[in-house]
Formats: sequence, C-alpha cells, structure tokens
Amino acid sequence: MNLEQQLNELTGKMYGKTIAACTEAQLYNSVLQMTKEKMAEKPVIGGKKKVYYISMEFLIGKLLSNNLINLGIYEELEKVLAKNGKSLSVIEEAEPEPSLGNGGLGRLAACFLDSIASLGLPGDGIGLNYHYGLFKQVFQEHLQKAEKNDWIEENSWLTDTGIRFEVAFGNRKVTSVLYDIDVIGYENGCNKLHLFDLESVDEELVKKGINFDKEAVDKNLTLFLYPDDSDEAGNLLRIYQEYFMVSNAAQLIVRELKEKGCDLHHMDQYAAIQINDTHPTLVIPELIRILTWEEGFTIEDAVKVVSKTCAYTNHTILAEALEKWPLAYLEKVVPQLVPIIKELSARVAKKYKDPKVQIIDEEKRVHMAHIDIHYGYSVNGVAAIHTDILKETELNCFYQLYPEKFNNKTNGITFRRWLLSCNRELAALLTETIGDGYKKNADELEKLLAKKDDEKVLLALEDIKKQKKEALAAYILEKEGVRLDTNSVFDIQVKRLHEYKRQQMNALYIIHKYLEIKDGKKPVRPMTFIFGAKAAPAYVIAQDIIHLLLVMSEIINKDPEVSPYMKLVMVENYNVSYAEKLIPACDISEQISLASKEASGTGNMKFMLNGAVTLGTSDGANVEIHELVGDENIYIFGQDSDTVISHYAKADYVSREYYEKSPVIKRAVDFIVGKKALAVGKKENLQRLYRELLNKDWFMTLLDLEDYIAVKDKVFADYEDREKWRRMMLVNIARAGFFSSDRTIAEYNRDIWKLK
Ligand SMILES: *Cc1c(COP(=O)(O)O)cnc(C)c1O
Repeated sequence: MNLEQQLNELTGKMYGKTIAACTEAQLYNSVLQMTKEKMAEKPVIGGKKKVYYISMEFLIGKLLSNNLINLGIYEELEKVLAKNGKSLSVIEEAEPEPSLGNGGLGRLAACFLDSIASLGLPGDGIGLNYHYGLFKQVFQEHLQKAEKNDWIEENSWLTDTGIRFEVAFGNRKVTSVLYDIDVIGYENGCNKLHLFDLESVDEELVKKGINFDKEAVDKNLTLFLYPDDSDEAGNLLRIYQEYFMVSNAAQLIVRELKEKGCDLHHMDQYAAIQINDTHPTLVIPELIRILTWEEGFTIEDAVKVVSKTCAYTNHTILAEALEKWPLAYLEKVVPQLVPIIKELSARVAKKYKDPKVQIIDEEKRVHMAHIDIHYGYSVNGVAAIHTDILKETELNCFYQLYPEKFNNKTNGITFRRWLLSCNRELAALLTETIGDGYKKNADELEKLLAKKDDEKVLLALEDIKKQKKEALAAYILEKEGVRLDTNSVFDIQVKRLHEYKRQQMNALYIIHKYLEIKDGKKPVRPMTFIFGAKAAPAYVIAQDIIHLLLVMSEIINKDPEVSPYMKLVMVENYNVSYAEKLIPACDISEQISLASKEASGTGNMKFMLNGAVTLGTSDGANVEIHELVGDENIYIFGQDSDTVISHYAKADYVSREYYEKSPVIKRAVDFIVGKKALAVGKKENLQRLYRELLNKDWFMTLLDLEDYIAVKDKVFADYEDREKWRRMMLVNIARAGFFSSDRTIAEYNRDIWKLK
C-alpha cells in the first residue's frame, strides 16, 4: 500500500471521509496516527548498555514535521497532500505545542534525544508528563499574563504503557502512570521518552490563570512545570515533583536491568544515568535506598556502584539556581531518604574538612550539586568558558579533589529541527551546492567555504533570507497585528527574560535610536527590533522589562515620525514553534548576556546555522563561535568574564557612575520615567525598573552600554556593504557544523557513557 492509500484508509476509518474531504484538524489526527504506526514499525535501538537521560524538562516542541523528516517521508507526504488539495504546512499548524520546559536546558534535552537516536545509540529520556507545562503568555495592558497551556488532546504522541509504580512520600502514597513518546532517529531506529504522570491528577484543581491549590499534592503533582518557588508551598511541591520523577526513574531502570539479566552489582556496565542539572539529584540516594533496603546490598556496595553509574551536567553558575533544600523540607517530603543523605554527608565530612564541599551545611541545608559531584563519576560544563569557570572559580574546591571527574561538553542543537525542518529552502540550497552529506555529517558544511566568492551562491543565500523575512512578516502581521518592512534589518533577541541576558540593555539602545530619530538623525535603512521572552511569574523586574518593551513598541510603532525608520515588536508566547519561524528570518542575532553568566546558550547556534550574524559578548558558546568564524564574521563587545568576575569579587561596580558619566546613557535611562513613557505605561513598573538600574543593576547593564551602542551602530553600517554581509552569512553557516548535537552526543558517549 502506498502512502496515499494508507492515509485514505485511515481518514476513512477515523472520519468516514477521503483525504480531500477532511478538515485540517481531522487530517492532522489521521497523519499523526499514520506517523505513530510507522514509527512503531521501526526497530528499537538495542545494546548491552543504555543511557537514561533524566530531566525535569524536555522542551520537545511540535513533533510531526521532525518525525516525518526522520522517517524520510516528509516530501512524499507533502506531495500526496498537495495532490488532494491540502498543505502539509497548514496541517502542521493544527498540532498543539507541548511546552514541557522553560528554555535552553529543556530544549537541549530534546535535541539530545534526537541525536542519541540518530547516532543509533540506546538511550531513553525520563521526565514528567505535565498537563499544562509552562504557562502560555498573553499581554494585557502592556503586562504579561499567564494562562494554562492545554496541550494534551484525545489523539497525541503519548502512548499509555500500562506500567504503574507506587511512590511513597512521608505523608502519602501515590500511583504513577507511564506514558511513552517514541523518539525516532534520522534514518535510524527508535528510543523512548518516558513521561510519568500521576494517576490521581485532577485538572479541575486549576482555577483562574495558572493558580491552583499547592498543598493538594495527590491532585496537582503533574499539572504544571515548576510552579512558583517564591513561598514554602511552592518549594515543597517542587521537591515532591523531583522525588516523584526519580522514584519512578529508579524503579523503571531497576526493572529494565533485571529484565536484561543484569546483576545489579554491575549496574554500571548496563546503565549510565545522566543527571540534567541538579533537579534529578535525588536519584542517587533513591537508588542507594532501593539497593540496600530491597536488594540486600551493603551500603558500601550500593554507594560504590551508584557512583559509577551517575554523571552530572552543570548548567549554570548563577548562585540562586543551584538547589539547596532545607533538611526539614526533605524530612517532610522524603523522610526515607534522609538517613541516606546524612550517611553520604557524614562520609564526606570524615574525609574532607573544607566547609565549602559539605553536603549538609551548617544551616542544615542540603546542597544537591555536592551530592552529584561526590557521588557521581563525571561533572561536565556546557561550553569551554563555562567549564573553565567551574574549574577555576565556582567549583574549584571540588576540582582540587576530583580533577579527573571534570570535563567539557559544549552544547549543540539538532540540525534536523533547526535547519532541515525550519529552513527547507536553505537546506535545499546547501544540498544543491555541497551535496547532502552534511545531513549526517555536519562538518561537511565547511565545503561551503569554497563558495565564498561564488556570486550565485551568495545571492541565493540573500534571496532565501528575504523569503524567510517575508514569511515571518506575514505571520507577525496575522498574530501580532504589526506590519514589518522586509527591506529593513531584522534584529532579533529571543530567549527567556532574565536580567543577566540583558534585554534591558537592548531596550536602552532602542530608546537611544528613537531619540536620535526624533532629533532628525535618520538611519539609512529601517530597523526592525524583535523580542520574544517569557518571564517567571514571580520575577518582578523581568516583568517590568517586558512592560518597558511593550510600552516602547507602542510609542515607536504609533509615532508617524519614527515608525517608517524603526519598528519594535515583542511577540506573544515565544515558544519552539515561534522560534522556528523567527530564527531563519534573522539578520542580527542578539547574544548580549553579561560575560560569565550564560553557561552556553543554544539560541546563538540556531541563529548562526541559519545565516544570522552574531552581535554578542565573550560569553558561553559565543566564545567558540568567535573562534570558528574569526574576528571578521562576528561582532564582539563588552567587558570579558575575568573583568566581570573581578567586579563581583571586589564589589566595585557602581551603575550610577556610568549613568552620571555619560549623557547618552543618562538620556536613555531617564526616558524610562519620562513623560512619554509614563503616558503609555505604568508608573509603578517603570519607576521600579529605573531605580533598579540606577541603584543596583546586579547584571551590569550600564557597564557595557556605550560599547554596545558603538558596535551595534557598526553592525547596521556594515549591513549596507551587501557583498561583505552575504559573505559573513556564508561563513557563519559553513562553520556551524561544530554545533550539531550529534557532535555533542558523540563526545558524551566517548567520554562519559561509553555505550558502544
Ligand atoms: C533554543 C531555545 C531557547 C534557548 O535560547 P538561549 O538564547 O540559548 O537562551 C529558549 N527557548 C526556546 C523556545 C528555544 O528554542
């Protein structure tokens, strides 16, 4: 049976209709069903040893188009649908997006699953099946409002496995339900993403927006991704979620190992457990508990084998993100683990006196990362500079103890989603120009360098960028109601909203340009500034920065003197699907975090791969991008990480000095609380942001603002040298191969997992 017959049979069975007669939603469901069946026919990737990638977040995005590409049937299906008067891209829009992650960390986990399967390695993800995931963002009165994101429909990628486990907390017992999502490799077999849900979960608990009773743990555990951690109930709920995940993970792993006939004393020969940030750390004491209580291990043997099985990835040096749970919270939620954690802590205390390396500190807080480092066999950072900072400063005392455990694994992205799927035009041009070897071996993108002076290729690249800008402009007009000029330069900053990422610095540049235009200094070509960002609901200053951006967009877009020269749009509900539309259309990629603070970034890689030029600081993977493309194909500005770290050490950064010293900075900052802004925005939010910038500015916005303005002006000027710009685009694409997550995963396997 060919694809068309198969699909027709399914639409007939499901809806009593032909393909042509189906609605888009019906057709989506039929194609979903067909794709699931085809994936189920693929062999499960096998092998003696398997990696279990445990993560509180898997920001998988929509799955249809990627699964079709990996199955190798995208084009065929596109033709079948077209023949029946249907469009695959319209049908793709009908898929709801699961938002099971906050940002980069969760997206990384999703890219890794794709690469593990595409390299033919046995490896499953383990996480939670949040019914509403991350909130859906809407704007009202220039403020962010959070709504629930209802993504689970009757037909979905989830399959109930029939597997149920009991999970015991201090004060209650619950039952889990295991759903699986198949993960298909590119022209390869299948692995699984295991998502645990709560049998007694109750969606009725959700009242207005994303509010719910935080104490009703046996009804709320899998409703949302990390709810509010600003109060005790929120913190306790997070520990409940973490233990729920790892208890299920440990039970699943032990069960699979026994099925393989593994003697658990040699668990490390059958399983590698990758702990994605500290959130799954409790899997270490939980496995030790199971081995000693249920499998008759001595504590000695249990600690030994678990320590040879678990490996830890550090994602941040921001102190507030390194989890430290009060022992009293753990006693309440998971009392059965407390004696084990105390034993692990006592062993450390006996061996090492340094208070900085203890598991339980003097204030009776449990440092999760310290459990991972002492009782795991690998500690990795996620970009070269980040790993260096871990070794030299943040985790230096641990590096002294265990130099052999530390290693770097620079992050990557899956090129299936971030090139083949989101930029089919570019992929086709690459195939035509350098062959399709790059699809399996990303390093082959370097072949493009031979075309550096090939007018035809350079113009084709420019033409594709223009097409993608037009597609984005049409989408933004429909969704946001803002008309963009596709002859303007598209300058894009999309990522979570956080002060360290410095969207506020970009906002100050825009204010500065606005004021210049008002003074009569017009840019030679119009500029389009695009933002997309969600802010944590309890993060007040981040909300204020969103407010400023929305206020500025109203001021700018409605001013007839200014709007022909610049536009500002903050898109609503930035997520993976939006990213797939924004990134291919970008000219200037904004990667402007305060040096030392962005562990790696992966947005930077997606933009580079799609031919955007980076404007960034020497931070995270920007440093490696810089090394790969050379000085002439990137714009680097700002103070370096050593300088920043020294400012923190000496506490000698005073933002007000920068404000007073520079009339340009002063004028832009003052605008935030000037008449025009207050006429549109809210006094409380704008004044709070203004005071924060002047009196605190913890992430040093004003430190780099002057340099940022100077370098960014140069970027816009250089854009007018079209020949030069086209070549920069080409070099960025050609050098992006290093950032394929296939490379990252091959390194994890070579150095940490050793699967095959
Ligand atoms: C890639 C990605 C991120 C991470 O972006 P950074 O710029 O690295 O912070 C966040 N959110 C979404 C939806 C992404 O696709």
